[in-house]
Amino acid sequence: MKPIIARTIAEVRAAVRAARADEQRIGCVPTMGALHDGHLELVRVAKRNTEFVVTTIFVNPTQFGPNEDFARYPRTLDADVTRLEEVDCDLVFAPAVDEMYPESLTTVEVAKLGDQLCGPRRPGHFRGVCTVVLKLLNIVQPDVAVFGAKDAQQARIIVRMVRDLNVPVEIVVAPTVREADGLAMSSRNRYLSPEERAEAPRIHAALRAIRNRAIAGETDAARLESALNHELAAIPGARIDYASIVDDSTLKPIAILDRPALAAVAVFLGSTRLIDNITIP
Ligand code: AMP
Repeated sequence: MKPIIARTIAEVRAAVRAARADEQRIGCVPTMGALHDGHLELVRVAKRNTEFVVTTIFVNPTQFGPNEDFARYPRTLDADVTRLEEVDCDLVFAPAVDEMYPESLTTVEVAKLGDQLCGPRRPGHFRGVCTVVLKLLNIVQPDVAVFGAKDAQQARIIVRMVRDLNVPVEIVVAPTVREADGLAMSSRNRYLSPEERAEAPRIHAALRAIRNRAIAGETDAARLESALNHELAAIPGARIDYASIVDDSTLKPIAILDRPALAAVAVFLGSTRLIDNITIP
């Protein structure tokens, strides 16, 4: 069945209230739209855990920096709704900016976890993400909300925000969905030229190579990090924003791999910034 489309907070609340009255549990999948199979997988996960799934589609202006791609971010609502029908999404919440941000003075920020990786390179980004996610959780009031492991730092920050602020929701983090050649699916992949698209899978290949070296016994994080940087620098047209090996839970740099680690990268191919990561057990 075609999902219900809600444009206002009042409409979402009414639909969720009706579902709850019918003893359905509520799932929520926050997205910025331009949906791909990675997003659809999150909806499937939500649908396995709950009966009534709300997908939110909102290109959130407060998480974009002044020189980022807010204006040109793809907006494909009709196609998104068609795809959501395939995975039995029950309701799409696609608010206008004014519906989400009437004059407001409050923001939410999680300390420390935003100090590395994307944090310093995208000032204010995680504040924007946390604020909009908390608003969406308060609007939908889901039992379960699903996020993707592709945005590893974002997922950790949201888990922490929910814990610290006692938000009554279970956060599920679903694995990264990839193209057949390994490239992590992303709404931004459509910006890539054919040449850039052909080189892009080397980002994931570099991460896998590092993980294999670690599994084979290399425990020196600096050596792994330098090998990772070397592999990424060899991609034609690539500019490394960062390529770091950090503690998997605190996201702080580590010297020796004596605990679970995360290799996380952000790479520009032309003007497109792609992120990816891999956990190192
Ligand atoms: P976005 O629309 O890019 O803001 O992403 C919305 C949600 O989808 C976030 O929780 C992302 O982590 C998740 N997501 C994006 N790409 C993927 C992917 N390739 N695999 C799994 N989840 C993803």
